Amino acid sequence: MPKAIYTIWWDNTLGPLVGRSYPPGNELTTEEALVIFMGHGVNQEARVGYTKLDRGLVVSLLDAPNCIAVLLDDDDDAMLVERNLHRLVGEIDFNTDDWDVEVRRAYERLLDLMEEASHDALLSDPGIRRLITDMQAGRLRAVSPKHVLRVTAYYPEVAEYLGGNADEVARKLRDLESAGILTAKTFGRSIQCMSCGSTELTVTIMCPQCGSTELYNVYGVLCQHCGARVQTVIMDDVSEVPCASCHRPIRVAGLEILSVEALCSDCGTATEDPKITLHCALCGKRLTIADLLSATGLAYYLSES
Ligand SMILES: [Zn+2]
Ligand SMILES: [Zn+2]
Ligand SMILES: [Zn+2]
Repeated sequence: MPKAIYTIWWDNTLGPLVGRSYPPGNELTTEEALVIFMGHGVNQEARVGYTKLDRGLVVSLLDAPNCIAVLLDDDDDAMLVERNLHRLVGEIDFNTDDWDVEVRRAYERLLDLMEEASHDALLSDPGIRRLITDMQAGRLRAVSPKHVLRVTAYYPEVAEYLGGNADEVARKLRDLESAGILTAKTFGRSIQCMSCGSTELTVTIMCPQCGSTELYNVYGVLCQHCGARVQTVIMDDVSEVPCASCHRPIRVAGLEILSVEALCSDCGTATEDPKITLHCALCGKRLTIADLLSATGLAYYLSES
């Protein structure tokens, strides 16, 4: 279980300030707060940071100007803590008047979230039980991803005022516009299907010669065992690919891909520059330049009353 939780605030003149921590007795130093904050990049570009301090590993999540950091115990699963930190940050009241209470509540909630993600707790969820039963009975063979790109406008600088996730922030801004409090003005161009209005896309990769979508992707990968750089075709539904150099299996979950080349199975053309097309994920229409550039991004200004 995580040992402590910290809040760190960015101040434009003073830099990172140690906020509150819980439980007592594990307080950060200013230097440690600085190191954690720097883990998010000089321009604060990384949302998640990992920092190895003398006292242990720290996972932190930046929701500028706030940073929530968690000190891990040696046997904590860092990825599990990171996932729950994402869940937790959505529930923290960054505008609280009483951070002592809020940080204690956050710590206790994090422990609850970690508990809810344990093996037995997951299996006590009726929906999850139904899923596992259906998979065991063969009614559902695998849970496969549908690759959809969402083209959403983000307004990060108002997130701390409005709370919630990016979608909720955009909705609140629209509410403020409808209520006449803010005025929307054009800002850049955004992508929207002109047929159905969706901003969700799927990407199709085609042979530049014959237009076929039957492509083998030949990957240059790094073997985890012998360190050799080898070429391999990665078919769907495999958990390992063989190394052409040492012949040991390379696990796909940790695969490091160095290069990709598409090989057309219809005409044999090999290319590093295949034709890429975008389709609307909702109505399936192939998106044209008009769809890609016709919608307008919106910036919001205070309405003149
Ligand atoms: Zn190898
Ligand atoms: Zn082809
Ligand atoms: Zn559409």
